Amino acid sequence: MSTIAITGVRIFDGERSAGTGTVVVDGGTVVAAGPGAAVPAGAEVVDGAGGTVLPGLIDAHVHLTTRRHLDALAAHGVTTAFDMASWPASTTAALRAETGTADLLSAGVPVIGPAGPHSRFGMPEYAVVTDPDAAAEGVARRIADGSDYLKVVVEAPGRGGPSPEVVAAVVREAHALGRRVVAHASHHDAFVLAHEAGADVLTHVPTGTPVGADLAAAMTAGGRLAIPTLTVAEVLTAARAAPGETYGAARDSVRAMREAGVPVLAGTDSVEQPGLPFSIPLGASLHHELELLVGAGYPPVDALVAATSLPAARFGLTDRGRIAPGRRADLLLVDGDPATDITATRAIRAVWIAGEPYRR
Ligand SMILES: [Zn+2]
Repeated sequence: MSTIAITGVRIFDGERSAGTGTVVVDGGTVVAAGPGAAVPAGAEVVDGAGGTVLPGLIDAHVHLTTRRHLDALAAHGVTTAFDMASWPASTTAALRAETGTADLLSAGVPVIGPAGPHSRFGMPEYAVVTDPDAAAEGVARRIADGSDYLKVVVEAPGRGGPSPEVVAAVVREAHALGRRVVAHASHHDAFVLAHEAGADVLTHVPTGTPVGADLAAAMTAGGRLAIPTLTVAEVLTAARAAPGETYGAARDSVRAMREAGVPVLAGTDSVEQPGLPFSIPLGASLHHELELLVGAGYPPVDALVAATSLPAARFGLTDRGRIAPGRRADLLLVDGDPATDITATRAIRAVWIAGEPYRR
């Protein structure tokens, strides 16, 4: 593996703008970064003038089923993605084994209720859990499948999702085995249910009654994390335009969580699969999500943190998410400065995955 030096480049290190300098990559990892980093003899030099290098982006909510999906992410600088439900387990396992493309964590087969909208998506039978006493077996089966964390699809009370007792039992069993629980919750009352059942991560946001200040404060106190997926909220509210459902409610929910100090990760709910009610392109949509977070009041730097160091740290990926010695050289080089203009993340010059250039 060759040594690479990206020179004269603005560095966003995953947490902050770290000045203009050089990033040196060797053996798939970053070995030096900053204004004082020297170019090693024999290094392949990449002129980064006028650009910014940042850690490879992380989309914290995707669904994928083929290598093509991983490549679409990588081509857009998304070098790691958190799959939030996919099946069958054999397909997910095969995707995890792919190299030279985006890297994957996955929930595998989610836990759903007997009659919600997700029960019509053609999932394996064991997706449905109706008895709290079956939670232990259900969690163990998913971990045997290779699931990195559990996903539970929570609906508003009476809408066919898993009961509060099942959600709480899944949380308890997952925690006993050292796994986080991510709860789908796109309705205010589902959000409350998931929060009260102890889910670690709440994904989506209500598009009806928004998350208010009190709920957001309770989330902070409980150590909750949010992946709001404004992108899908925008798509669904535009397509359905159901009475009382608005994108503004989703944005207000994000604002409330931000003001209360709930950590928010950038995620899109991107999925390109026939038979689903919507399609959101993998890769490209994360850049849109960053713009929507800025539109919801995030300074560009905070939006970048939400797609780099924060998801890595919160999902236990200590090897990436920052540009620092010893970290994986998953890198994105763009024109301009996304720390001041978030749309600059789209102006991609180059992507590296574990130090190897990704041919887009
Ligand atoms: Zn999803």
